[in-house]
Amino acid sequence: MRTTTVSTSPNSFADVVTPGPVPVDPAGVAERLREVRERVALAGGSDVAVVAVTKSFPAEAVLAAVAAGADGIGENYAQELDAKASAIAEAAASGCPVHFIGQLQSNKVRVVARHANVIQSVDRPSLLTEIARRASGLSVMIQVSPADETGKGGCDPAEVPALVETARQMGLEVLGLMCVAPTSGGVEAAGPHFAMARALVDHLGLEHCSMGMSGDLEVAVREGSTMVRIGSALFGERS
Ligand SMILES: *Cc1c(COP(=O)(O)O)cnc(C)c1O
Repeated sequence: MRTTTVSTSPNSFADVVTPGPVPVDPAGVAERLREVRERVALAGGSDVAVVAVTKSFPAEAVLAAVAAGADGIGENYAQELDAKASAIAEAAASGCPVHFIGQLQSNKVRVVARHANVIQSVDRPSLLTEIARRASGLSVMIQVSPADETGKGGCDPAEVPALVETARQMGLEVLGLMCVAPTSGGVEAAGPHFAMARALVDHLGLEHCSMGMSGDLEVAVREGSTMVRIGSALFGERS
C-alpha cells in the first residue's frame, strides 16, 4: 500500500534516478559578474569584454550569464554545445555572441559552426580551411602559445602572422588573438607571455586580445587584454 508521502507527479521517478546538476543561482551570477568587472576596473581595464565560460555547467548557467549582461559565452566542447543548444541559441539571438575556446579537431568544426559565432582556438592552417569550407560566416581568433607549450593548443608566436594572412585570404574575419598563460611559473610568468600576445595584436592591427581567466585576469588586463574569459569566478569550481 502506498504511503501519502509518495509523490504522484509524473516527474518524481526521474527526479529520483537522475542526479540534478548543481543549481545555478542567477542573482549570484549577476553579483559575481559585477565583482569580476570591479577586478578588471581595479587592474586598470576599461572596455574589457567579459566572456562567461560555461563549460561543465548546465544550460541555466548560460541563461544566467546572458541575463546578467555578460559580453559573450565561452564553451570548450562540441558535444556540450549540442547538449545546451537551445540556451546557446538564445544567447546568440539576444546579442551575446558564443565563443568556442577549446581545442578543436577538424571533424568537429561542422558541429561547432552550428552553435558558435566565434572560434577563438584556431592554431593551424588545416583548421582554417575547414572553417572556411563549413562556416564561412564565423569570425576567428588565432590562439598563440609560448613556443614550448604548443602541444596543448595554440601556435608558435612566429606562425601567427601567416595564419592571420591565410585566414583573411580565405575571407574569414580575424577578430584578434587568444592566449592562455603558461602552465608553469605561476601567475607572474603569465606577464611576459601576455605582453608578447598584445604586441602581436598591435603589430598586426587586430582588434581583440583575448587573455585572462579567473586566476590571472589582473595580469592580463595590465598587459592589455581586451577580453577576459571567466568561468570559476562566476559559476564556482568545476567538478
Ligand atoms: C576553462 C577556460 C577558461 C575559464 O577558466 P576559469 O579559470 O574557470 O576562469 C578560460 N579560457 C579557456 C581557454 C578555458 O579552457
